Amino acid sequence: MKAALLYGAHDWRIEEIDSPEFGDDELLITIKACGVCHSELHQWEEKVPGLDYPRFIGHEASGIVKSAGKKIKKFKEGDRVALWVFGKGFAEEVTVKENQVFPIADDITFEEALAEPISCTTNGLLKTNVQLADTVALIGTGFMGLILLQQLKHQGVSKLIAIDIREEILNTANQLGADIVLNPAKVEVPEEIRKLTDGKGVDVAFEVGGVQQTLDMLSQITRMEGKIVIFGYHPGKRVINDLGYWNWMAYNIINGHFRNMDTILDGSRRGMEMLNKKLINMKPLITHKYKLSEIENAFMAAKNKPEGFIKAVVVI
Ligand SMILES: [Zn+2]
Repeated sequence: MKAALLYGAHDWRIEEIDSPEFGDDELLITIKACGVCHSELHQWEEKVPGLDYPRFIGHEASGIVKSAGKKIKKFKEGDRVALWVFGKGFAEEVTVKENQVFPIADDITFEEALAEPISCTTNGLLKTNVQLADTVALIGTGFMGLILLQQLKHQGVSKLIAIDIREEILNTANQLGADIVLNPAKVEVPEEIRKLTDGKGVDVAFEVGGVQQTLDMLSQITRMEGKIVIFGYHPGKRVINDLGYWNWMAYNIINGHFRNMDTILDGSRRGMEMLNKKLINMKPLITHKYKLSEIENAFMAAKNKPEGFIKAVVVI
């Protein structure tokens, strides 16, 4: 089978490797799509010391069951499924255990059925425990922000505020149900938020952008004792310049990341239920598709975010 291996900075090689062997309690999956994740970019932009290369990455995969081991009960050959995989997603085939596999509804495409990011947003929201009629701000409404936004619509929030510097993304946020959209390049966001919240700030602010600027905005828009959620992925060095103020404001600080496998798989199950029931619409989010041989272009798009970009998916 073909697989894309990352040998170093911008050095993808499509290689012919053996099909993975699978045990009685495993499934062999023909991969149909695998999303390019923001969290994968740093190891592709440069060769990170301490990481093993060549790397076999890709963790947002979906596909078709090619063969099922003898002990597999819930799935059979031909089933369309979303996966939670530990890398190895940018390839034609992968093996998984039964608990890493989630059914896809007939009218959901493989590109839309990305279990891992939906698991992250689902678990982030469960941990945040948003209350009815909360005012909520999303700082950064790229791919993850737009999934969070749609899920928050089902949680009975009173005002859902989308903040982003890309105007076209704010249009999508509007279409997907944001009550208010704010562009920091055009308006004073903290002042606007004060006007919208009787001078107090929002009850819950999600930092989704994963950059210093989005972190900095948290304390400018969140009310005293409100919830601050660090949801964005921060591989580089970051600073909280005003920790004294965070302290004084008595914020509830929530790390929206998870490493426990049971939690992650439970989030995948819940998230995929929402996708299959049309409570989340992934169609407008999958804006850029590439073949396996074009994987470098897919990563370049994820990095440079051309006009209209939300998410790149490699279709295999
Ligand atoms: Zn991911």
